[in-house]
Amino acid sequence: MQLSRLVLLCVIALVFVPVTGAHAGPLQVQGARLWAAPDSTRVVFDISGPVEHRLFTLKNPDRLVIDLPNAVIDDKLKKTLTSGGMVKSLRSGPRNKKDLRLVLDLKAPVKPRSFVLKPNEQYGHRLVIDLFKAGTASKSVPKKAVTRPKQFRDLVIAIDAGHGGEDSGARGKKGTREKDAVMAIARRLADLVRKEPGMKPVLIRDGDYYIGLRKRIEKARKHRADLFISIHADAFRDRRVQGSSVYVISRRGASSEMARWLAARENAADLVGGVSLDDKDDLLAEVLLDLAQSATLEVSNEVADNVLTEMMRIGKMHKKRVQHAGFVVLKSPDIPSLLVETAFISNPTEEKRLKSSKHQQRVARAIMNGIRRYFVANPPEGTRLAKANIRKHVIQRGDTLSRIAQRYGVSMTTLRVSNRLSDDRLLVGKVLKIPSRGS
Ligand SMILES: [Zn+2]
Repeated sequence: MQLSRLVLLCVIALVFVPVTGAHAGPLQVQGARLWAAPDSTRVVFDISGPVEHRLFTLKNPDRLVIDLPNAVIDDKLKKTLTSGGMVKSLRSGPRNKKDLRLVLDLKAPVKPRSFVLKPNEQYGHRLVIDLFKAGTASKSVPKKAVTRPKQFRDLVIAIDAGHGGEDSGARGKKGTREKDAVMAIARRLADLVRKEPGMKPVLIRDGDYYIGLRKRIEKARKHRADLFISIHADAFRDRRVQGSSVYVISRRGASSEMARWLAARENAADLVGGVSLDDKDDLLAEVLLDLAQSATLEVSNEVADNVLTEMMRIGKMHKKRVQHAGFVVLKSPDIPSLLVETAFISNPTEEKRLKSSKHQQRVARAIMNGIRRYFVANPPEGTRLAKANIRKHVIQRGDTLSRIAQRYGVSMTTLRVSNRLSDDRLLVGKVLKIPSRGS
């Protein structure tokens, strides 16, 4: 459908295209932007048309040289590119009378990568230069350690604010950018997770820069995340469309991913609890992977259900059931993953709400409540939440103190005292400590 295609576009907003064809007059470099991420720096040049380019690095001092045939640069522009990340400064000069040479002075040796982007509604033709700290551009997936924890560990929630840097995501009529709104919600959610006993947040993106979709998954695995939650805002040409949606990976997306793991079998051992798949025949390897994937999917679905229930309480839903799609960020084989489209930024009312800090907090809290409800009831083995001697009860709609007391075989007074309740009103989503009988 048109809508789901648009949703997909919002996640994969960068379109890569090769450049062909010559250009008549000299091309102009019209703008430059720099986005600094922890391990990489992205420099983007706005060019007046499709551009060909050549780049190479030089040592002592470290530099990156970019040659653009038949091009010129505005002198004022050189000052607008502030140094940052791995870049000290930008210099330029003419070459062969009609060509342009750009030189980035670097703070350290880098591995560069470059590509061009076609115009979109926000920018024209762009040349993108990615600088990776030498040694960090490797494509290998970090392995998730499978050592048994000796101590109880915190539950790790990976929070992924969509888009970033050059990729603004969807835009509201008033100019609100998806990347900013979702970053604000992500930070608020991280604060709430941090306050939660036994939980720890990891912000996948912690600033205004872009991270590749597979890289986002890698980062979550590196931190041994128990849950990956990606936060986005929707857009649609019909500005009346509104509401939130919650997504998990689709069956088709999951099975195409299965083929990838089977192909890279030596990397797949940690996906099935450390069992090597190298010596297994295809069928057995597939069965083992399928089991791992099904378990992950089941958790994804249940957490998503809980988050959706909470989102329903704070606003309109675009889809009242958990949706399934092939989003790349949801493809972790061993980390339950969900994606929340918090609202339609294209809807004027929802754009306004997305900007309001009060509403951002409300969304973050709803997501937190959903996460808590699932993981307190189903704590992964080895986590602090799973410590057997502390029982907890997450208050559900319709619960009363007397019914909870009866269920766990404790007195109402005990419940009141150990939870410091001043009256018997119960807040849905709150966690009650259940003391052991007799204490
Ligand atoms: Zn998005």
